Amino acid sequence: MEQVVILGSGSAGYTAAIYAARANLAPLVVEGPQPGGQLTTTTEVENFPGFPNGVDGFELMHLQRQQAERFGARVVSASAVAADLSGEPLRVTLDNGQTIETRTLIVATGARAKYLGLPSEQALIGHGVSACATCDGAFFRGVPVCVIGGGDTAMEEATFLTRYASEVIIIHRRDKFRASPIMAQRALSNPKIRVLWNSVVEDVHDPTQGKVTGVTVRNVVTGQSQRIEVGGYFCAIGHEPNSGLVRGQLELDANGYIRTQFTRTSRPGVFACGDVQDPVYRQAITAAGSGCMAAIEAVRYLEAHGG
Ligand code: NDP
Repeated sequence: MEQVVILGSGSAGYTAAIYAARANLAPLVVEGPQPGGQLTTTTEVENFPGFPNGVDGFELMHLQRQQAERFGARVVSASAVAADLSGEPLRVTLDNGQTIETRTLIVATGARAKYLGLPSEQALIGHGVSACATCDGAFFRGVPVCVIGGGDTAMEEATFLTRYASEVIIIHRRDKFRASPIMAQRALSNPKIRVLWNSVVEDVHDPTQGKVTGVTVRNVVTGQSQRIEVGGYFCAIGHEPNSGLVRGQLELDANGYIRTQFTRTSRPGVFACGDVQDPVYRQAITAAGSGCMAAIEAVRYLEAHGG
């Protein structure tokens, strides 16, 4: 029987692991489908305290893992496919067939990128449609690409893509970016970036060719549509929580985020931290902070329930 099982290996999961390990609970971290979490799909992390010159996302997660393992956390390369939170012990089934029993569970499964949902877009995911410039940007050397969205992610993706693409066209549905001024300015001052304001994507071409050849964009003010030739399409319109595993067992909000109170969920002994329960801040450092809180809550729960 495990004392603490942590689902997810992003900043929330590994920080929870560091704290639970230092409490001598030898937590088991189930890595999940994206080892290291969302930071491994970003480039330079510039806002994590302690790294005045920035730190590579992969490197930061590698360091967090090392730190957790140093104190006795164990990491299993698997994903949870089912959970039974109805009684004690809690049970988690992994994709390797193993079922783990545990006294406490920390859900740190994070969030994933959203897409517009157009059938043509969905058909071309992995064939020119992506939500991760760091992962796929290098495939678009010398060709124009578009980025959908007006937040920090869109600015970051667009700026990164200028390393490879001949031109980066940001398509944004309003006439003003949501992004922070510093990130927006960085993108707007880049000569390789052009913005189509007040514009929405109506169609992605061309699923019949099995690759992206362009997009049809409609200006929501004039109502006019135009076709733009691009070889890559990057969606950067936000994220949704990875809470499917616990749906029906834990209270979720209308958007699928796990409802928490100081990381406590609706089920005693089950805690949630990081982006799966945070629709507001969604930062690596807030995820780490809530991971710390979840571990402290799990330790207190175990102490209150027989040590
Ligand atoms: P945001 O929710 O901040 O922005 C999403 C953007 O996509 C908005 O501009 C929104 O438009 C647009 N959008 C949403 N849905 C649609 C749709 N259906 N069709 C067209 N456009 C759509 O998400 P981000 O991922 O950009 O950022 C999330 C959080 O992460 C933020 O807090 C951000 O600050 C942070 N972040 C920080 C970074 C850093 O500091 N290095 C890097 C990346 C993210 P509209 O504006 O009209 O709502």
